[in-house]
Amino acid sequence: MHLVDTHTHLDFPDFDADRPQVFARCEALGVRRLVVLGVYRENWQRVWDLACAQPRVSAALGLHPLYLDRHQPEHLEALRAWLERLRGDPRLCALGEFGLDYFVPHLDPQRQQGLFEAQLRLAAEFHLPPLLHVRRAHAACIATLKRLRLERPGIVHAFAGSYEEAREYLKLGFKLGLGGAPTWPQANRLRAVVARLPLEALVLETDAPDMAPSMYPKQRNSPEHLPDICAHLAALKGIDAEALAAASTANACAVFGWDPPADPR
Ligand SMILES: [Zn+2]
Repeated sequence: MHLVDTHTHLDFPDFDADRPQVFARCEALGVRRLVVLGVYRENWQRVWDLACAQPRVSAALGLHPLYLDRHQPEHLEALRAWLERLRGDPRLCALGEFGLDYFVPHLDPQRQQGLFEAQLRLAAEFHLPPLLHVRRAHAACIATLKRLRLERPGIVHAFAGSYEEAREYLKLGFKLGLGGAPTWPQANRLRAVVARLPLEALVLETDAPDMAPSMYPKQRNSPEHLPDICAHLAALKGIDAEALAAASTANACAVFGWDPPADPR
């Protein structure tokens, strides 16, 4: 099996004690590539160091809405400087994590929108796919994407919206990232949406160390769980795990501009 974890935070201290072992187990399980995403300025170096040290890791850099209070206006300029410095380096695969979060009440929507649009413009300028965090904010996100019309679309990570919202993203060329959330039996609405989504729409992710799947409750989530997540979501869709693995990997390669694996099994 050849899987891509399109969204992880393996740079977080949760993995400091056993990161090399996690990579070794991923390799053995067929989790061949991992995207690690920066969330605020101070962690970009850590993310980049990981991408330089680990050939299976690709990096994305961004200003995450949940860290809104940490971001300063000059951090956008710092992000541009990083992108200019790394322009053309294949280890930098995307811009993210950034987006809109209306679920957490104290995060000012207007400030979020300003950062969101500024980073979408950077993604367009540097021709990188955006990796988006969108919670309770799909209408605003879709309206913004329709207005800006990116030539190179990306991924809406941990998608938990409606089928209609999914269709809007697909029309804009975006893929939808699925991980632990739809494996929980109580996620009825999301599970019904996932069952209907076309295979061309999907990429897989863990969001490790967060969003543990139902088969590993209350544990640190890890990219090692991606094969189990893939098997669970394939069963939900009534298809083989191999078919979901192959389709999601092909979709991820298309987003990031990677050559598809020679042997997808
Ligand atoms: Zn994330």
